[in-house]
Amino acid sequence: VGTQELLLSRIRDVADYPKPGVMFKDITPLLADPEAFAALTGMLAALCERHEATKIVGLEARGFILGAPVAVRAGLGFIPVRKAGKLPGATLSQAYELEYGQAEIEVHAEDLRAGDRVMVIDDVLATGGTAGASLELIRRAGADVAGVAVLMELGFLGGRARLEPALRGAPLEAL
Ligand code: 5GP
Repeated sequence: VGTQELLLSRIRDVADYPKPGVMFKDITPLLADPEAFAALTGMLAALCERHEATKIVGLEARGFILGAPVAVRAGLGFIPVRKAGKLPGATLSQAYELEYGQAEIEVHAEDLRAGDRVMVIDDVLATGGTAGASLELIRRAGADVAGVAVLMELGFLGGRARLEPALRGAPLEAL
């Protein structure tokens, strides 16, 4: 079996979660399989190397689970981007539109600076709103974007197109 098939076989479709009509992609079976989890973090670490990233940003919360082992494997520092109000130090904040309403994410301002090349890691790219806001934060901190790397892109939601302006030519890699 190829690696992509292995990863796909460990993603569970959950109907009507978190609300009716949504088919949720649940990655917990993949995390529980050591072979699949190691294959995934290895592929993400290789992407960080290929795109010459010098830091990793993980998006709360599944981007923490994936981004932390990738950072260790790639020999890079890990920086959490959190939902507003969770980080104790001085932060930069970025609001963005959800399907209904608004959300806000934050990063510790001192964790990113000019000269950094940041790879953003998350499990799923859905509408692209969260990843797009994280790219704004990275650039406002003065750092460069090496790319965005996700396990899965839900193509029918159009996240790639929404993210495109914020990428400014940086790659969006979906395994
Ligand atoms: P977006 O901002 O792209 O619409 O939403 C992406 C965020 O929501 C990501 O942080 C991702 O973890 C989460 N998300 C949205 N849909 C799914 C899904 O079907 N499965 C998982 N695991 N996460 C999802």
